[in-house]
Amino acid sequence: MRESTAAQPVTALPGVGQALAKTLERLGLRTLQDLWFHLPLRYEDRTRITPIRDLQPGAAAQVEGRIEAVERGFRYRPQLRVAIGDDSRATLLLRFFHFNAAQANQLVVGTLLRCYGEPRLGAQGLEMVHPQYRRVADTAAAAVEERLTPVYPVTEGLSSARLAGVIARALQRLPADAELELIPPDLRKAYRLASLRDALLFAHRPPPDADLAQLELGLHPTQQRLAFEELMAQHLSLKRLRARVRQHAAPALRGGGELRRRFLAALPFAPTHAQQRVAAEVAHDLAKPAPMLRLVQGDVGSGKTVVAALAALAAVEAGFQAALMAPTELLAEQHFRNFQRWMQPLGVEVVWLAGKLKGKSRSAALAHIAGSAEAHPAQIVIGTHALMQEGVAFHDLALAIIDEQHRFGVHQRLALREKGRVAQAAPRGRGMEAELEGSAMEGRLEDRVPHQLVLTATPIPRTLAMTAYADLDVSIIDELPPGRRPVTTVAIANARRHEVIERIRAACADGRQAYWVCTIIEESDLLQAQAAEAAYAELTSALPGLAIGLVHGRLKPAQKQAVMDAFAAGKIALLVATTVIEVGVDVPNASLMIVENAERLGLAQLHQLRGRVGRGNVESSCVLLYQAPLSAMARQRLDVLRVSNDGFRIAEKDLELRGPGEVLGTRQTGELALRIADLARDAALLPQVQRAGATVLDQSPALADKLIERWIGQAARYAGA
Ligand code: ADP
Ligand code: MG
Repeated sequence: MRESTAAQPVTALPGVGQALAKTLERLGLRTLQDLWFHLPLRYEDRTRITPIRDLQPGAAAQVEGRIEAVERGFRYRPQLRVAIGDDSRATLLLRFFHFNAAQANQLVVGTLLRCYGEPRLGAQGLEMVHPQYRRVADTAAAAVEERLTPVYPVTEGLSSARLAGVIARALQRLPADAELELIPPDLRKAYRLASLRDALLFAHRPPPDADLAQLELGLHPTQQRLAFEELMAQHLSLKRLRARVRQHAAPALRGGGELRRRFLAALPFAPTHAQQRVAAEVAHDLAKPAPMLRLVQGDVGSGKTVVAALAALAAVEAGFQAALMAPTELLAEQHFRNFQRWMQPLGVEVVWLAGKLKGKSRSAALAHIAGSAEAHPAQIVIGTHALMQEGVAFHDLALAIIDEQHRFGVHQRLALREKGRVAQAAPRGRGMEAELEGSAMEGRLEDRVPHQLVLTATPIPRTLAMTAYADLDVSIIDELPPGRRPVTTVAIANARRHEVIERIRAACADGRQAYWVCTIIEESDLLQAQAAEAAYAELTSALPGLAIGLVHGRLKPAQKQAVMDAFAAGKIALLVATTVIEVGVDVPNASLMIVENAERLGLAQLHQLRGRVGRGNVESSCVLLYQAPLSAMARQRLDVLRVSNDGFRIAEKDLELRGPGEVLGTRQTGELALRIADLARDAALLPQVQRAGATVLDQSPALADKLIERWIGQAARYAGA
């Protein structure tokens, strides 16, 4: 049987041996198809020869001229200067700083050279530094290239020209449309997509009249056609994942609402309209015998925790368990305390589980979660990643809530769901309401999985959400609780640090509280802790008499907790911290935040951090300390924060400035590794991609498999879903 051409290894090409294959592998190029999809970064136009007279500084061009003079000099370093002239009776200077004797010997007066390079204005008129050049024979006019010359992304030990040769050979094996094309003609027509074969050939070797500027932006219709197909494959794979999950059953959670009513009545505030709407959307999903897959997005401080608590109570009312997982211990602990405070009066049991819980207390917690203890099973379980570890078995998990999703990857999200998987569909609840509806279970897979609620404060731009979270329904809390005031944000150079410290003194003298956040790029807990300790020492000596606390990832949980408690109680005026306080921490009286090295952080992260203040009803401010000089890009980014308090706008801007990887966090980048498409650049395609994707799923599901296989391959990204 014939192996598909696309899947053939690069070594199937003449001239590609093991050594070259290894180098190609470093670029992720293993098969012929990988080569086909490895698009040029930019193009060079060698299809014509520009008269020297017509050269423009800054505009790369190809010229041909005869050497009129050669000069070797050693002014500051060895230099070879070659003047060429052509029929346009103009002269161009070529400058070489690196050259060998053989090269110098070839470049003699009278030789005809063809050069490609970018002219610039030098002291003696136009010049090219280190142009690409070759000698051409005198006799007949040498042919020019017929197509634009591709310049490929390369790696050490591989030139673009060599790679271009390999890719050209791979393209010769590009099969006919019949074998290659996956998108059916009617869809191609509807969305005006060229055939894949035409698109690839064009993108690698565009004709001379192609729009170079458009090509280099990746906006040429043929490039967009390739991006379209890739985005569609991504979209389909998430849809598939979703469909697979939805084949399972889930317990229909239809409690009477009594606990939820009592919970709301005891809250010191009324939920906002947005909270009510989203809570209702969640409750509606939970009442169905199919697993909910819902993402709740809400800006920092929009009150997602209340929505989570209502969902958890829906599970409890129906006689099941709910689990809430948070990415940091600090945040998990804060949730635990909030939930305890809310749930105790209702008689609902809340249990805590984190990695640091050891020995007897751990086994007690595990027994409680599994329902094997004397006492009745835990109703709400709160913790960190520890919840997903082996050895953690739930008695009857019906709802998995994951807070601050951007810190977790898709895999972790799935792992928690596995915890609640039950291999048959018999009713297992405790109370009367726990009866599963037998009829609704019919026709479903035997496995039962918990509902999933994902909370995120990283406002994901809509376009991105549709792609990166196509497996989830989305609810948005688009309203902040009343009385919140926007945080005034300023950017100040580190040289004016003393002024900032003065400002803390004044604010704290006024009875306000402040955060000082130390950031360093290293992920290492130790280095971060050291940076925080240094700042702590500095501030303690600069602000004598002020109660200052320190919290970082290397402290014992009890120590951390003691500091956070003291800060929450107002006993500490200034809290020096690492970014451990980034998510979730909630101390309304804190109204001043200083962020060190702000220029190094992503906008979304800064917005998160800033969200720690502006929670009470005093005027709050945030100082972004930066190391001068700021790059233009860094200044632009800090400006976005200065002028906007709207997380969605900030995220859109961040996406524009830095691309999706940064916005979603590194975890997601791996999972959304796009070869050709660029979510920011190609955002406009997404609505069409969605529509086309729906048509494919509807009319030719087998095609969806092929598209996923082609673009995502065997990565088994969602194995076990
Ligand atoms: P986030 O969406 O960032 O997780 P939280 O759930 O931590 O926000 O809520 C932030 C703060 O706002 C908490 O102190 C919470 O008690 C309070 N809060 C939540 N909802 C409301 C509301 N409707 N009115 C007033 N305060 C609220
Ligand atoms: Mg939160």
